[in-house]
Amino acid sequence: MYDVIIIGKGPAGMSAALYTVRSNLRTLIIGKNDSNLLKAEKVDNYFGFAQTISGKELLKNGEIQVKRLGAEVLEDEVISVEKDEFFKVVTGTASYLCKAVLLATGLPHKAIMIENMAKFEGNGVSYCTTCDGFFYNNRKVGVLGHRDFAVHEAMELTTFTKDVTIYTNGKHLDVSGKYIGELGRFRVDTRKILKLEGDEFLEQIHFADGTGENIDGLFVAYESASSIDFARKLGILTDGNLVVTDNNQRTNLDGVFAAGDCSSRFRQISVAVGQGAVAGKAIIEYVKSL
Ligand SMILES: Cc1cc2nc3c(=O)[nH]c(=O)nc-3n(C[C@H](O)[C@H](O)[C@H](O)COP(=O)(O)OP(=O)(O)OC[C@H]3O[C@@H](n4cnc5c(N)ncnc54)[C@H](O)[C@@H]3O)c2cc1C
Repeated sequence: MYDVIIIGKGPAGMSAALYTVRSNLRTLIIGKNDSNLLKAEKVDNYFGFAQTISGKELLKNGEIQVKRLGAEVLEDEVISVEKDEFFKVVTGTASYLCKAVLLATGLPHKAIMIENMAKFEGNGVSYCTTCDGFFYNNRKVGVLGHRDFAVHEAMELTTFTKDVTIYTNGKHLDVSGKYIGELGRFRVDTRKILKLEGDEFLEQIHFADGTGENIDGLFVAYESASSIDFARKLGILTDGNLVVTDNNQRTNLDGVFAAGDCSSRFRQISVAVGQGAVAGKAIIEYVKSL
C-alpha cells in the first residue's frame, strides 16, 4: 500500500513527490516518457539557471532528484483509477493501492478530427463509461480508440450491452498486457471515420471509404487516459479540459489532488512546480489525518 500515487512524471508530479517523500510518505510516481516539457529545446524563464537549459535535461535532473530522495518511479501508463476503501491505480500489467492520488498528467493530446463530434457530445458521444454506460443498456455502442484505454472502456461497457465495437479510426491496434487477451470479446473496426450523423442524437457513423453504419452511442477513449478522464469517472468536477481544484490543489473528492497543466490555465513549468509543491503539502496533511 502506497501513501500516495502520483500519475505523471512531469514537473508537477515530480515536484509534489519532493515534498511527500521528504515527509516519509511512501510515494510511487507512474508516468510515461512524454512530458510536454520534452518539446522545449530551450528553457529560459525558469528560475535558477544561469544558462539556458533544455526541457529534457530539466526532466532528467528532476527524476534523478526524486529517486535519490526515495520516490519509486515506474515507467508505465495508467488506464484507470478506482475508488473503494482506498484508491486502486490500474496499469496494463498491474494495479496498486494507495491512500491518496495526485493527477498530474499534463494536457490531454486528443485532437480528433471527426466532423460533428462536438455536436453530439452528451447526445450519443460520451467521455465516461462509468457515468453514461447505463443509458445504453442492450444498445449498440462503440469505443473510439486503439490502445489499452479503449479496451478497458469496452470491457466496462459489457456490463450494459454485449454489442460493443472498438473503432480505431484508421489506427493500428496497440494493445498490451492483459488487454490483448480481452480483445476477442469485441468487434474491431479499423476504418477511418469521416463524420457522425443524426438528428438530435447520434445515429450513424460515416467512414472515409463511403460506407456507414448505425450506432446508438460512441465512447471516446482515444490514445491514453488523462487526468480529465480519471476525474470524470471518479465524479470529480471538471471545467472543459481542466480538473477543478481549490487553492490547495484538492479536488472535490477526498484523497484526490490535481496539479500542473491538467488543472491550470497558465501552462508553465514554474506554475506546475508550484502547484505540485502545494499539492504535496496538502497530501501530507491528508494522509497524516487518516
Ligand atoms: C514546445 C513547448 C515548449 C515549452 N516551453 C516552455 C518554456 O520555455 N517554459 C515554461 O515554463 N514552460 C514551457 N512549456 C510548458 C511546460 O512544458 C508545461 O507547462 C509543463 O511541462 C507542465 O508540467 P506537467 O507536469 O503538468 O505536465 P507534463 O510535463 O506534460 O507531464 C505530464 C506527465 O504525465 C504523463 N502521463 C500522461 N498520461 C498518463 C497516463 N495515462 N499514465 C501515466 N502517465 C501519464 C506524461 O507521460 C508525463 O510524464 C512548453 C511546452 C511546449 C509544448
